[in-house]
Amino acid sequence: MAISIKINKNPQSRIHLCDFENIEFGKIFSDHMFRADYTDGQWQPGTIEPYGNISIAPSLSALHYGQSIFEGMKAFKDPQGKPQLFRPLENLKRLNISAIRMGMPELPEEIFIEGLKQLVVLDQAWIPTIDGSALYLRPFMFATDDFVGVRPSNNYSFMIFCCPVNSYYPKPIRVKVEQKFVRAAEGMAGSAKAAGNYGISMLPTMEAKKLGYDQIIWTDGKNHQHVEESGTTNLFFVLEDNLVLTPRLDGNILNGITRNTCIALLRAKGYEVQERDISIVEMIEAAKQNKLTDVFGTGTAAIIAKIATIGYEGADYELPDPEKRVVSNWLYKTVYNIQTGKEPDPFNWIMKLG
Ligand SMILES: *Cc1c(COP(=O)(O)O)cnc(C)c1O
Repeated sequence: MAISIKINKNPQSRIHLCDFENIEFGKIFSDHMFRADYTDGQWQPGTIEPYGNISIAPSLSALHYGQSIFEGMKAFKDPQGKPQLFRPLENLKRLNISAIRMGMPELPEEIFIEGLKQLVVLDQAWIPTIDGSALYLRPFMFATDDFVGVRPSNNYSFMIFCCPVNSYYPKPIRVKVEQKFVRAAEGMAGSAKAAGNYGISMLPTMEAKKLGYDQIIWTDGKNHQHVEESGTTNLFFVLEDNLVLTPRLDGNILNGITRNTCIALLRAKGYEVQERDISIVEMIEAAKQNKLTDVFGTGTAAIIAKIATIGYEGADYELPDPEKRVVSNWLYKTVYNIQTGKEPDPFNWIMKLG
């Protein structure tokens, strides 16, 4: 079913203010945003408006009780300059998994996809084409009742805005295995992309930064023995450039789309990929014997975030030279080339717009 989206065009594009060679991640926003509201038990058709502030009540329930979820995805241009999305239906699926867990209404496919398509087509001049860059898209949903009692909200807004992002080859990072704080445990909301899961990660990450690390590796909430994920990325460990391990989807970690993409590409290339519980002691032993050849995080923003050093129980374990990593370097290039149409798309991951 096609829905009709009202478009109120921005009379004054800000694109000339954007220096596409030097974009700071998350600070520059394109000319438009999409919004659809849920009222009277139904999603209303959305609107596209100039990007700008929104007005909220001090009692906005999302602020007090945390019904707030989000997605992160990217739009690219193919070699002919046509805009395209990467696996957008996977983001919708996950948004609705998050919505259910947080007691929020599911978003219909036509609102999500039409909203994205029309917004990206309208702001396609904002999709950077410098190598490594993309237009980052942030869909999110939050509770909007003007009511301070504790109950699920009756009203919600779903919005999307866009940020051009440059190549984000992050420098290989130092991570600390976290054994005091927990991100999620059985029965909690670790597999939801919920704002609150980020709120609770700020203090542990700040503490790790004070010790000279960039990020933490979360461990399981029962015994702190198994690795879970790191910051905004899922984790991969490669033994002897051959066997690839990644934590299984145990309900406590996020089902990353980049994670799924990397598993599919690795298996198609002939690698053995095991999704299982990964003990931190096993990985540290492998590092000591120089068998741990590559460790990296996967996520939409960076695609691949290489890990240079793992800190565990006060000792630092240095991993092999990031420049020479076989698996992570191959994955980064392959994923980005598929996203930008420079390599064939054997899994049908691309949705062309226009
Ligand atoms: C978004 C996110 C990821 C990565 O998911 P992608 O779909 O690959 O971007 C991993 N972990 C957490 C906690 C996340 O919020």
